[in-house]
Amino acid sequence: MAESIKLEVVTPAKYVVSEDVQIVMAPGTLGEFGVLSGHTPFLTSLKPGRIVYKDASGKEKMIFVSGGFSEALPDRVTILAESAERRRDIDIDRARAALERAEERLAQEKADKISFERAKAALYRAIERIKVAETRGL
Ligand code: ATP
Repeated sequence: MAESIKLEVVTPAKYVVSEDVQIVMAPGTLGEFGVLSGHTPFLTSLKPGRIVYKDASGKEKMIFVSGGFSEALPDRVTILAESAERRRDIDIDRARAALERAEERLAQEKADKISFERAKAALYRAIERIKVAETRGL
C-alpha cells in the first residue's frame, strides 16, 4: 500500500474530514492538483469543485469544496474552506434551488456588478454541489 498522508478539511463551522489517505486531488485556482506522501510543500487557493481522495483501504471518496486554501506538506494536506460537504451530506434539492435562484439573479438586467459576481459564485457552488451529489459509487 502507498504511504499515507493526513487529510484535514476544515470550515469555520466544522471538521469535515480528518483521515489518513493515500492520495488527494483538489481544485486549485491554477488547475487541479494531486498530492501523495512526500510532496514538496506548497500553498494554493482553491476554486469551487471536488476533492477526491483514496482512503486508507483504497476506496475513493468525494467532497464538495466551495473554495479556500490548501497547504500541502510531505505528510499532510490541510484544506481551509468557506464551506465543504461530504458527498452523502449534500442536499441536492437545496443545491438545485440555489442554482435556480442564481440563474434568476443573473438574468436580471438591473443587477449591479457586485450582485452579479455574487450570483455567479453561487451558481458555480450549486453546479459543483450537484455534480458531486450525482456522482455514483464514491
Ligand atoms: P444556499 O443558498 O443553499 O445556502 P450557498 O452556496 O450560499 O447555498 P454556502 O454559503 O456555501 O451555501 O454554505 C452555507 C452552509 O450551508 C455551509 O455550512 C454549507 O456546508 C451548507 N450548505 C449549503 N448548501 C448545501 C447543500 N446543498 N447541502 C448541504 N449543505 C449545504
